[in-house]
Amino acid sequence: MARYTDSSCRLCRREGMKLFLKGDRCYTDKCAFAKRAYAPGQHGQGRKKVSNYGEQLREKQKVKRIYGVLETQFRLTFERAEKMQGMAGENLLNLLERRLDNVVYRMGLAASRKEARQLVRHGHFNLNGHKANIPSMTISVGDVITVKETSRSSVKIKSLVENSTRVAPKWLDVSLESMSAKMVANPTREDIDLEVAEHLIVELYSK
Ligand code: SF4
Repeated sequence: MARYTDSSCRLCRREGMKLFLKGDRCYTDKCAFAKRAYAPGQHGQGRKKVSNYGEQLREKQKVKRIYGVLETQFRLTFERAEKMQGMAGENLLNLLERRLDNVVYRMGLAASRKEARQLVRHGHFNLNGHKANIPSMTISVGDVITVKETSRSSVKIKSLVENSTRVAPKWLDVSLESMSAKMVANPTREDIDLEVAEHLIVELYSK
């Protein structure tokens, strides 16, 4: 399976904003973007003028990178979003937000979406009582995500639960005590705390 293996911090610098890809480190003065808030590479501090296409492309890249999704899967998610009722851009964010790896991150059980994806892949979660180890699975209202019985005593999971400080979004009813969460509503655009102009992604893919 294809995956991005280069520096995560380069992505933040390229997008000109903190994407919070490295968990706790992102909140410290070790953050690369805090030190060098310009694009990487020889011309990183050069020309700033961006075309319409450039703006649309950057917005798409930003969202892809925040959720850690590669191009093909992102495009397929967009096509799904277009077929749903409502605005395609908002639907796209809704679908990304309801990915299992993102839900685990929102539960506060991982410092970053990357870590959440790894926990899911390693089979630490159940969805409605059944094994769920596919990070891209879409969660729906009423679904219950739980840490698997055999994973509850793992040092890693225990430490993640004990150190969790993230406030869960209102569409997710989280109980860290029981290591579970229930999706109680569909996330709306206001619930998704991302500074992105999703309409630019729709414009890009509509060309
Ligand atoms: Fe981005 Fe800073 Fe986190 Fe690196 S440490 S991923 S630059 S927010």
